[in-house]
Order: sequence, then C-alpha cells, then structure tokens
Amino acid sequence: MIVEGQPGHIDQIKQINAGTVYRLIDQFGPISRIELSKKAQLAPASITKIVRELVQAHLVQETEYQEPGSRGRPAIGLILDTQAWHYLSARVSLGTLTLSLRDLSSKLVAEDILPLVAEDAVPFLDRIIAHIDQFFIHHQSKLERLTAMAITLPGMIDTAKGVIQKMPFYPVESVPLGPALAARSGLPVFIQHDIAAWTKAESLYGASRGFRNVIQVVIDDNVGAGVITGGQVLHGNSSSVVEIGHTQVDPYGKRCYCGNHGCLETLASIDNILELVRQRLEVTPNSLLNGLPITVENLCDAANRGDALAKDIIVGVGQNVGRILAIMVNLFNPEKILIGSPLNQAQSVLHPTIMSCIQQQSLPAYSENIQLESTQFSNHGTMPGAALVKDALYNGSLLVKLLQG
Ligand SMILES: [Zn+2]
Repeated sequence: MIVEGQPGHIDQIKQINAGTVYRLIDQFGPISRIELSKKAQLAPASITKIVRELVQAHLVQETEYQEPGSRGRPAIGLILDTQAWHYLSARVSLGTLTLSLRDLSSKLVAEDILPLVAEDAVPFLDRIIAHIDQFFIHHQSKLERLTAMAITLPGMIDTAKGVIQKMPFYPVESVPLGPALAARSGLPVFIQHDIAAWTKAESLYGASRGFRNVIQVVIDDNVGAGVITGGQVLHGNSSSVVEIGHTQVDPYGKRCYCGNHGCLETLASIDNILELVRQRLEVTPNSLLNGLPITVENLCDAANRGDALAKDIIVGVGQNVGRILAIMVNLFNPEKILIGSPLNQAQSVLHPTIMSCIQQQSLPAYSENIQLESTQFSNHGTMPGAALVKDALYNGSLLVKLLQG
C-alpha cells in the first residue's frame, strides 16, 4: 500500500482487532455484540469500544433482527454500513481500461470500459490519470465519499512501491502509477498483479470460498497462477506472483516480453493460440473453422461440435498447462483447482485433458481427490480490485484510515 508509515505496536493491535470485528460483522451480520465477542475472542468491553467507533464513523449500523429459534422481541444486531463509501476499482488489460465505482459492499455503482491502445503520443501514466479524472467528472452525481483506489494489471509489479516494472501489451518501464495516483488523490492506492488479485477475489467471493488449499490457473491474454495455501494467498502482500507463465516450455520458442524464450505464456496465451489456429487452418481444409473469423468463441464452438483441429489445439493447451500444474499439485497438494479462461467455453475438452495430465504426472495420493472447475469471475471484471480493498478492510489497514476520517 502507498502512503503509509509503520504503525506502532498498540496501533497495530488496534488495527488487527478493528479489522477482525469488521470482517465478522460482514460475514455473520446481523450479529449481536455478545456473539461478536465470542467469535472475535475479545472482551465485551473491547467489542463495545470498537463497535462504537465503527458506528460513529458510519461504517457499521444497528438493525433489529429475529434471532434463530427465538420467538421473543427482535434483538439488536450489527450490520455493515456500506453505501456512503465508494472506491475506484480499475483494471488494465489487453487494449482496455476498465474503471468502476463500487461501494464498500463491493456493489457496482458505475462502470466505463475504455479503449487503451498500446502506443500513443501521450505517455501511459498520463493517459491513465486523465481517464480516471474524466471518470470522476462523468459520474460526479453518483459519487459518495471516496475511500481508496485499487488497480490490477498484468506484468511485473512492485506492489509495495506501487511501481509497474514491465508489462505485456504496453511498452512501459518503471512507471510509478501508485505514487502518482496517491499524490493526486490523497487516497490509499492498492496495486496488484491481476492474477494474484483475482485469486484473492475467488477466495473471498467466488469459486474457492471456504477452501484452504487451491491452485488457480489463468489462461487468457496472459498466463499465470495464484495459490492459496493454508487459507492464505501465497505472496498475497508482496510483489511476487506464481509466475508459471514464464516457465520455459520450448527453448526454441518465441521471444517473451520477460526477456526469455518459449515461456508457457508464449504458447498458451489466447493470442498465440489463435495464431496457431490460423497456421493450422492453412493445411486443414475440412475444419469447421474455415471461412469463420478466428475468435476464441468460434474455436470453442467448433471444439464442442467435435471439430478435430479445434479439439486438437485445445488439448495441446491443456497438456502444456497440465504438465506444469502436475508439478504444482506435488508442491501444494490442493483440494481444488480453478481454471480462469475463455477456453472454459469448451471445458468438456479442456478440463479432462488437464485432469488426466495431473493424474498421470503427479502423486496419486495428491491427485485423486482434486476438484477441477471454472472460476466464478471472468478475467475482465474489476472484482479482483474489489478484493484488494476488502482485504485492506479485513486486515484493518484501510479501516483505521477511515476511522481517523
Ligand atoms: Zn516470459
């Protein structure tokens, strides 16, 4: 996170306790103060004090509710007060900048999807700032109090400093996006690799909710993975991500933006898959894909209808990804594997290929009970950014800033 000094010991305990209380109200509300005290393992007096502060700041409110099994008077419970607080959740992806305004319950209030070309006379950072300024002007009438900005993007990112070191699709180098936005807005700014943030989003709201050991693989414009181990996102708060996309699969392969050759990303990213379809079509006149625009939708549709070329290409992707996943299964022994990809449109071809690689290439005891399924969110939404904000509320770091006003 940007703009933050190290908190002292007492402040840190206060921060953690406030975050825990906020999380429990979010997860179990309406909840009584007594129940909250039990779940948080904090003394009733501490709960009273923290709740009073949260209520005064309009982050929590009281509500009447009927306790389960009780037929007496309604009890007074606590729920979050989220509507008066907004934040920006942004996402940079291939050719697109998505800007969304959400309230603290993560609900979408407004969204603009804007084209973002790779090269332009105006520098990348200036363009992002100008788009965000315009977004706030455009949606001024809906805007409540702003709390934070969260941005997710592909590439190599120093999350602690908020600096983009390198990106695919955009020729940028050492761009201080976080400090620039923090200086301009005075708000906390969270920047994270899109796949790491997406993994967090699935664990907070999506398909891996409640699971303690999960591998999430993304096959899209970029390729990579996120790991949840012991209920925590691995490298969740550092600059590192699980860079399987930059593992060499073909030493004679194409050059990658990371500087290496034949990375998994150069073989399994959507762009490269569609390029392969184009090449193979030239020598496969009987494919259903002949004469159609080469898109992921058409590729998946042809595979679902049994087209040999389309199936073969998706099986090839599944085998390349499956080989690396098998190694990861032996390292992390997950209960669940999530696949985030537009190729999920042909999941009846892709998923069994990946699963059979895992079963053949990893430890039987580890692979036999794995569930493999699609992620809940698509790669192009701004829920990954929402997860960064929620995480900062739950760990208390953003919450204490809101309490301080
Ligand atoms: Zn690479």
